[in-house]
Amino acid sequence: MEEIHIIVDSHFHVDETMLTLEKMIEGMEKNNITKTALIAPMNDTMFEPESSFQHYLQRLFRVLILNAPQIGLKIYDGLVKDGYLKLYGNSYKIFFQPNNDIVADAITRFPDRFLGWVAVNPLFPNLIEEVDFYLRKPSFIGVKAHPFMHGYSIKELEPIAAICESKGVPMIIHLSSEKESYKYLPENFPKLKLIYAHGGLPFWKKLWKYVKDQPNVFVDTSSDYLNPFIVKMAVETLGYRKVLFGCDGPYGMKKFNEYDYSEKKSWIEAIQIPDIQKEYILGKNFLGLIE
Ligand SMILES: [Zn+2]
Repeated sequence: MEEIHIIVDSHFHVDETMLTLEKMIEGMEKNNITKTALIAPMNDTMFEPESSFQHYLQRLFRVLILNAPQIGLKIYDGLVKDGYLKLYGNSYKIFFQPNNDIVADAITRFPDRFLGWVAVNPLFPNLIEEVDFYLRKPSFIGVKAHPFMHGYSIKELEPIAAICESKGVPMIIHLSSEKESYKYLPENFPKLKLIYAHGGLPFWKKLWKYVKDQPNVFVDTSSDYLNPFIVKMAVETLGYRKVLFGCDGPYGMKKFNEYDYSEKKSWIEAIQIPDIQKEYILGKNFLGLIE
């Protein structure tokens, strides 16, 4: 009998101005994705029109981050300005206080399909109460932090990291360009389960070299910042036990309710590794973290 393996998307946002929950579930079903771990929206509705100019810029950005990080990091820092995310000539308002009720409501509507990350911004008061409140709900599995868009030093996450370490729940972090910030939490909270979003953007190769020897640190494969080549390189460098599948939808969408779930999943499926290893990347690694 064939073993049933569960596919879990570890990183996706709820924004029904872009993609309804019903449509999400339709896409998940088509692609055999059993569950999705949701995060509150981080910014205003963001449709990205198809353009070859945009593809060119994305490619250039990846090449720079991989091969000339000093220049790549400058461009990266320029993406966030005055409370807006600036992409390809368009500006999208950043939400500084994440609304976790949106995620809680989505889970209430589809409890079998969704899990939740508690999104935090440590620059707001009542941080600890917020995290405690949501983590008390069994469907909330960890904490998401965004030092890049919210513009703070990784050190600000200390109180939250302490809570997550003691509760044994993971944190997922989208890093800023702060120098060597990827070392700070593992060094101060060695038992903390940590996921660096988007393959560890904006550090990639340097970060992988470090993460390789950190038993509790992982990366996810989500978002259009990455491409199949970078995901493959991450898996080759880190090994299949340290990489988690995620999409980061609905970001990257072109039109309302038209999200292509198959793309990010195909990045994993295309890697030349045994199927059993792909099963770890597509779900088992993440399920192991949230047990
Ligand atoms: Zn995200």
